[in-house]
Amino acid sequence: SSESGRVLSIQSHTVQGYVGNKSAVFPLQLLGFDVDPINSVQFSNHTGYPTWKGQVLDGEQLWSLIEGLEANNLLFYTHLLTGYIGSLSFLETILEVVHKLRSVNPNLLYVCDPVMGDEGKLYIKPELVPLYKDKVVPLASMLTPNQFEAELLTGCSIHSEADALEACKKLHGAGPSKVVITSLDINSDLLLIGSHLENEEDAPKQFLISMPKIPAYFTGTGDLMAALLLGWSYKYPNSLETAAELAVASLQAVLERTLLDYNAAKVQPEVKQLELRLIQSQEQIKHPIVEFHAKRF
Ligand code: ADP
Ligand code: PLP
Ligand code: ZN
Repeated sequence: SSESGRVLSIQSHTVQGYVGNKSAVFPLQLLGFDVDPINSVQFSNHTGYPTWKGQVLDGEQLWSLIEGLEANNLLFYTHLLTGYIGSLSFLETILEVVHKLRSVNPNLLYVCDPVMGDEGKLYIKPELVPLYKDKVVPLASMLTPNQFEAELLTGCSIHSEADALEACKKLHGAGPSKVVITSLDINSDLLLIGSHLENEEDAPKQFLISMPKIPAYFTGTGDLMAALLLGWSYKYPNSLETAAELAVASLQAVLERTLLDYNAAKVQPEVKQLELRLIQSQEQIKHPIVEFHAKRF
């Protein structure tokens, strides 16, 4: 698309380090988007550190920002992007935001990263799960769960590629025409599964991208992935495969750079040395070189 995109990105902000909006805004700007961040929380650092301090926005405070924008006719967006959401009232307000934005632009694309947990562990309050499942997923244009989140949303456990493809079909049935399971841990490599339902009559186009697993635990990668998928999907609306290949390419370049700096650090390795090297990887974010190709099912 030649028309430039404008993204409302509602995510966490950390003063130092790169998760939430800190890992989504800059890459989207590099890809040519106007990005308007709403910081759902402002923390000193991400929650993988021993301690953190900061403030949390509630649903009413979110809505007041939306009202401020509306009063000045500033609610035209091509995309809404949401990530980690900590409270029920905030998630309920997100639903109102989607409706409000779609009343201004009926073509608004909602990219939802249903952040709920990872590796079998829930990191939100359990009462948010049914709200995601019943109310949020149906409004999403693109959904980017990890393996555990896809299991929570479908109620099916995923042990194979076939299970993952089935889960994607189930999620299409609930609403989103694009689904990307961003990581599947079923063999020695990491798998990304994509599924695009182009029309209700045909089966979805499904593919996988296999990439080597890097032996380190990064934070903010899911947020970066969702942002990159949004960005490249706007440029390639008819090929989720191409968008995913480009997103994976940028992400792997960022992780390689991060690991290079981590390994070069002379000090005792700490969490902070694994903060994503986004600024240092800006060339690879703008011009990714695809190494891992999508395989169609
Ligand atoms: P989340 O943080 O939401 O669980 P994922 O773990 O699915 O997100 O990570 C998103 C993307 O980040 C994956 O698709 C993959 O490209 C990349 N990634 C994350 N961790 C690793 C890793 N250890 N090795 C290789 N790629 C990784
Ligand atoms: N937001 C905050 C405030 C966090 O502390 C974290 C992880 O610690 C995240 C978001 C999520 O990061 P990820 O993209 O790895 O799921
Ligand atoms: Zn995630």
